[in-house]
Formats: sequence, C-alpha cells, structure tokens
Amino acid sequence: MSCSNQIPEIFGCNVFNDEVMRQRLPKEIYKSLKKTIDFGLPLDPHTADVIATVMKDWAIEHGATHFTHWFQPMTGITAEKHDSFISPAPGGRVLLDFSGKELIKGEPDASSFPSGGLRATFEARGYTSWDPSSYTFIKDKTLYIPTVFCSYGGEALDKKTPLLRSMEAINKQALRLLKLFGKTDVKRVVTTVGPEQEYFLVDKELYKKRKDLIFTGRTLFGSPPPKGQELEDHYFGALKTRVSEFMHDLDQELWKLGVYAKTKHNEVAPAQHELAPIFTTANIATDHNQLTMEMLKRVAEKHGLMCLLHEKPFAGINGSGKHNNWSLITDTGVNLLDPGDNPRDNALFLTVLCAVIKAVNDYQDLLRITAASAGNDHRLGANEAPPAIISIFLGDELTKILESIEENKPYNGVQKRPIEIGVDMLPKFFKDNTDRNRTSPFAFTGNKFEFRMLGSSFSIAGPNYVLNTIVAEVFSQFADVLEKSNDFNKDLNDLLVKTIKENKRIIFNGNNYSEEWVKEAESRGLLNLRSTVDALPYFISEKNVKLFTKHKILTEAEIHSRYEILLENYSKTLNIEALTCLDMASKDILPAAVKYQNHLANTITLKKQTGSAVTYAAEEKLLTKISHLTDSLYDEIERLKVLLGDVPSGDCLTVAKYYRNEVFPQTLKIRQIADELETLVAEDFWPFPTYKELLFSI
Ligand code: ADP
Ligand code: MG
Repeated sequence: MSCSNQIPEIFGCNVFNDEVMRQRLPKEIYKSLKKTIDFGLPLDPHTADVIATVMKDWAIEHGATHFTHWFQPMTGITAEKHDSFISPAPGGRVLLDFSGKELIKGEPDASSFPSGGLRATFEARGYTSWDPSSYTFIKDKTLYIPTVFCSYGGEALDKKTPLLRSMEAINKQALRLLKLFGKTDVKRVVTTVGPEQEYFLVDKELYKKRKDLIFTGRTLFGSPPPKGQELEDHYFGALKTRVSEFMHDLDQELWKLGVYAKTKHNEVAPAQHELAPIFTTANIATDHNQLTMEMLKRVAEKHGLMCLLHEKPFAGINGSGKHNNWSLITDTGVNLLDPGDNPRDNALFLTVLCAVIKAVNDYQDLLRITAASAGNDHRLGANEAPPAIISIFLGDELTKILESIEENKPYNGVQKRPIEIGVDMLPKFFKDNTDRNRTSPFAFTGNKFEFRMLGSSFSIAGPNYVLNTIVAEVFSQFADVLEKSNDFNKDLNDLLVKTIKENKRIIFNGNNYSEEWVKEAESRGLLNLRSTVDALPYFISEKNVKLFTKHKILTEAEIHSRYEILLENYSKTLNIEALTCLDMASKDILPAAVKYQNHLANTITLKKQTGSAVTYAAEEKLLTKISHLTDSLYDEIERLKVLLGDVPSGDCLTVAKYYRNEVFPQTLKIRQIADELETLVAEDFWPFPTYKELLFSI
C-alpha cells in the first residue's frame, strides 16, 4: 500500500495512529491501550501480544520488513537498531513474527552511548522500553517504535525519560491546583509544544569542499561577503525554485510521518529558512522535532543541498535557533495559559501565569543550562539572539494588570477599583499587545510562553523537562498553601501578591539586546551566565538536585552523569573544531598563501627582466603583506599545537574551561589572519569555496 498525493490521505499514512488502532484493534484491546496511553497504566502481556501482531500486519502491508526500537540517547540525535520480522519455520522456510515482548522491550548494548559515569557503577547493558504515548510509524521499510532508554539499574540514559517523568510531575501538581479551582472534571493535564526550527541550506558540491562544514557543521574560516543580511531582503522573501521544491518534498515526507508541518519561510540571513509545525503534546513534539531535523538533512541531499542545523554556521550573519512555544492543556480542552471567559477562569489563568513567573525566576540557572552548548555559545548575547540573561516579556498591559494586583490599586483608569481576583474579569485587550518584543528570551505570546534561547540543533526534550519540572514545583508550592486555606479568594490573592512582589525582577519588557539591560539585570541580581562553562556548574547545585529528586525527574547520580556528559561533549566539540582549524590552516590555507606568493615573486622576477619601464610595486607590496601574514599564521598554528598538547588532566569542568579560555581564542586568532589572507590571495588560489559562494549560490 503506498501513499496517495492528496494531503488528507498522505497525512499520517505511515503512522500507526489512533484511527488505525481503533479500526484494527479488537475493541477491548483498544480500550486498554488507550488507558495506557492516557493514564500510563501498564499493559498486560496478552494485550501487548495482540497489539504487536496487528501492528506487524499493518507494517507489512505498508512494505515494512523490519522493526526498530527508536530512542534518543544523550548524543542528542536518535538511535536505532533494525531487526527483521523473520523467524525460522520448518522446511527451511520463514514466518513473519513480532511478539508483545519485542514491542515492549529491547536490549541494546548501552556501553557505547554516553553515560557520564553511570556505566562504571552499573551494568553496561541497557534496555529500551516502548513509549505508547508516541505513535509507532514506518520509515525506510522499517516499523519505528518510540522508546525510552535506561540502564539495567533503571537509570535514565536518554533525553525522553526525564521528559516523560516531568509530564507526570506537572500533571500531578496541576491536578491538585485545578481541584482547588473546582475543576474536578479534569483527569489529565499535558504540556503542549510547538517548536519553530531554523536552518541553513548550502549547495552540496560546495559543502563537500569545506572540511569545517563536514567535521564541525560550521565554517571556521571565511571573510564576510560584500553583501550580508543588511538589506533585510531575505526575510519572508519569495522562495527560490530549488528551495521551494525542497520544502515541498520535505512537507510531504513529514506529513506521511504525521508531523504537522505548517509554516515555512525564508529567514533573516541569506540561505536561512524556518519551519514551524502545529503544536502537539511535549513528548510527541520532541519525537517529531527529531524526525524533522533528520528529514531536513535527508530531503536536502536529494535536492543537491545540505541542511546546516548548527547554531552559528557563518560568522557575521544570524545563526539559527529554535523557539519552544509551551503551554498546558487539560483533557477537557482548556489551555491554562489562556485567560478564560469568567472571573474564576481568569483567576486560574493568573495563578498559572504567576507560577510560571516564579518558576522562571527561581530556576533561571536551569533554563539557561537547557540552552547551553558549544554551538549556542556563539549566539546567545550576540545581538541576534536573546542575551544569556533570562527574563520574561509580558507586554505592558499584562504587566500593568500584575502591578495593579500587587499594589492593590485601580487598573489603568479602565477600572475604578483594584482588580479583585476571582471576582473581576480581566481586560481582554492585552492579548493583542503581546508578542511585539522579539528580543526576549521568554515571552508571553497571548496563550503560551515562547522560550527563544534554544539552539537549532537541540533536542527539545531538555528545555521541556526543565520547564515542566520547575512549573510543577511552583504548582506544588501553591497547592501546599491553598489546600490549607479557609478563605480561598483571600488566600489566593495574598499568594499572588506575594509571588508578584518576590519575582517581578524577572519581568522585562524592553530591548534585551541593549547594553543598559545587561547593567539593569545585574542591579536586579539576575544571573548572566555567559557561556556553557559558566552555566553548567549550576546544574549540580543543592537547590537543583533537590528539585529534580523531589519530583522524581532525575536521581542525584543521573544529574551528575548528565553534567559530565554535557561538559565532555563541550570539550570534545571544541577539540574537533581546533583540530579542523589546524588541518585547514596548515594544509590548505598556508600552502595556498605560499603558492600565491610564488606566483607574485615569479611575476616580479619576470617583470624585472623585462626592462626598466615596467613597474612591479603593487606585486611587491602585496607580496610583503602576504608574507608577513603567512609568518604570523605559521606562528599561531604552532601555538595552537602547543596548547592542544597541554590539555590539563583534571575534572571535566577544568578541561572544558581550558578549551573555552585557551584553545578557542587561539582558533579565533588563526581565523583572523586567514580571513585577512583570503582578501589578498587571488580567488583562483583560494583552497575552498568562500562565503560569497556558500551563501549566494542557490
Ligand atoms: P511566531 O513566528 O510569531 O512565533 P509561528 O506561527 O511561527 O509564530 O509559531 C508559533 C508556534 O506556536 C507554532 O508552532 C504553534 O503551533 C505554536 N503554538 C500555538 N499555540 C500553542 C499552544 N497552546 N501550546 C504550544 N504551542 C503553541
Ligand atoms: Mg516564534
């Protein structure tokens, strides 16, 4: 069975989704699977067997020959190991077989995935376990089963496990709160996420000539082209045919996999684009974003293009981020960040809003860490992306409403007396006044928050498990207070006033790119964790360990393992970049400069022989300049070699700091000289494609 070309039929045609389940599973089996999906109840072996058989038959009808447990280890990308459905039958024949056990549990060897010390203390074996809340699907003739990945002792070795645990935590605490607001009909609260994904496209043939793109995903060299993004003519511009055909194909592939690809457009930088899906539950959004990143790369190659997901592929123009739109929704269809239509719902909205404000203020460090990586260090604070300082944008109207509540004074002349929570309606118009500020790292946008610090290559699991957990924590603090209350409206009012007072320093509606904000934030006592090595130590602080362990998101051992993995990954990335820099500088750039000098010197010699009327001052000046630069380049290359030979053998933080403070600046020195050489050496002699070609050839 193949997919048609009508969108409604294409959409999800390779997904074992709810509709397929309902059609194909026996009624009782479907019902118990739904309970597992919606409420996390365990599946009994018989039910699992029936589901597996139905799934296998469906998969085979759709051309599948294999199945795989699909998981998201700490590498940040997905992992899979394919097994065929065949099992031996008498007479040298085979049967196609797939059991409930195979559906539910897999046992990949965990020893080759990052485990940050967990491997040393526990068994090397790991297991994957089916996550029924994310649909199975078919890709490349294989049935993909979304799973979580744990060590044999049950320690999380992946990105999905803490996310799923955090969804449980926030559900539990949100239900406590909702009960207090009389919403006893709500059985489940989930977080919803819509991640906007930025990326670059470059020509594949040019890409193949750049070792830096191949090994590091970004350019380590390149002088600025004559034209950058200054004319602002790319943003929302007409799509070039080749890009448009790529995007069309990409949409089709994503739709087949049930990904709600919705919006596509050109971004600010030349060769930069964006894709946004319609939001869905946080865990499915996470799986879908992984699939989207994979498909972006794969479909691009089919079109002779390469998709760059690195946060900063090119110096001097914008890098790529990912905007994480986040909200909470009840199974009765209420968005908890949407001010409702009656005073009671308004009160709930304000409570949830204040909880998020407090969560972000209390756990600035953790949110910052979820956006920390070697790649994103190039963006945050670079006047194209939010600064490294976490703050919340609420918009002027909503800020005024909170002020009026805090100070118990009339709201903005519209209302003569102070807003009374649970009694008064909120003015409606603030919704239209939000989302005017593009510089804020964490903006309220009418009915959701948009966390804008993420790097384009990130798994969104990290930011979302942290968001879920910190908000769950404040919900639990609120519920602790309100459950003891005898006068709900009064105590709620007091709680919100106190929360606003204590946390309003995190609210900032101005320009986050300005120097004044950096100073202002400092005077407010907000954190400014400039780089990954500055931020990561906060991960293992007592306060944060307490948070994660209280809500059963991560154990102390798991937190430390993640801390180590992140720092090791950081050092490894900077090491690869330094080695690539060395390689290109000494094997490509230096020889090119020498060759061109040879050319100039020959020209000068020939000219000298020609006669006294011929001048060669230009060649001589050029030769002098280039030879000085070549000398410096050589020296700086040697210096980098020494630095790389001197990496300290300390703990992972010491090593990461060394790479950040010693190795990285040295690669920048080399770049500076090489980029100047690029402007002097003739184009024919330059060893790889320049920014001009990379950015403007499609
Ligand atoms: P903008 O570029 O203005 O930020 P987009 O339309 O590109 O807007 O992206 C907005 C994203 O927010 C989309 O992915 C959308 O599905 C998502 N979104 C909308 N409502 C919610 C919600 N309640 N929860 C989570 N995400 C949401
Ligand atoms: Mg956005």
